Amino acid sequence: MRYLNKLRTVFFALAMLALTATVAQAATKIHWYGQAAFKIETPSGGVILIDPWLTVPTNPDKNSIAELAKVDYILITHGHRDHVGDALEIAKKTGAKVLAPYGLGFNLVSVLGFPKDQVMTGGNVGGTIDLPAAGAKVTIVNAIHGSELTAPQLPQPAPGQPAALTSGNPVGYVIEIKGGPTIYHTGDTAAYEDMKLIPMFHHIDLMLACIGGYFTMDPAGAALAVQWVKPTHVIPMHFGTFGLLAGTPEEFSAALAKRKLAGKLIVMKPGEDRSF
Ligand SMILES: [Zn+2]
Repeated sequence: MRYLNKLRTVFFALAMLALTATVAQAATKIHWYGQAAFKIETPSGGVILIDPWLTVPTNPDKNSIAELAKVDYILITHGHRDHVGDALEIAKKTGAKVLAPYGLGFNLVSVLGFPKDQVMTGGNVGGTIDLPAAGAKVTIVNAIHGSELTAPQLPQPAPGQPAALTSGNPVGYVIEIKGGPTIYHTGDTAAYEDMKLIPMFHHIDLMLACIGGYFTMDPAGAALAVQWVKPTHVIPMHFGTFGLLAGTPEEFSAALAKRKLAGKLIVMKPGEDRSF
């Protein structure tokens, strides 16, 4: 009987350990490199990069690309070079699948030389795409912006040829992670009223919102977007990388406070991690 009790105690302890391990594994880790570049590590062990400009000057870690061991998916919101970033080098190094809006996907292969078998069939706004290796699915949403390909690999324009190639629609991504948060990366966008549709389809736990202004929402616009999207938390991005992106987290905090939304704000620094 005493032996049975001991066995029961051991079993109970093992069960608690297993439970603790499960809970510990369940966190989703978010890393911000700077600008619009994030790494998401999912509870199933998947790794997703979004707009991976890892050599962004504000990233304090100059070895970020070398340190990447495994990447399952690279999501690119539009063709501008601060968003395509280092995707080609990372795709070649890791074998990651690359998802971009429909037209951009073609140009990644034909113009920039991405490996054809790694570029997924580009989706488009309104579509939802499975990311099985990361235990996630992604819904593509609108972004009010441009998507010209302006990467340095573009061939020098000949007379009469365009200097920037049209490359599909600019988009944002809503990533639903199994056993983890639903994350909305706005891409580069203005605040637009159809953002009100997003919470009708998804509860957004975490919104990654551009606030720099000039090319995108400024802090006041981003605060209005937060009111419409209703996320639990918002992390500002796409500011301070260079002088034109003048919006600050302090201004964003004040703009959120005016709308009684200040409690949602989480400010990260480039190079930092957060778990959700
Ligand atoms: Zn940008």
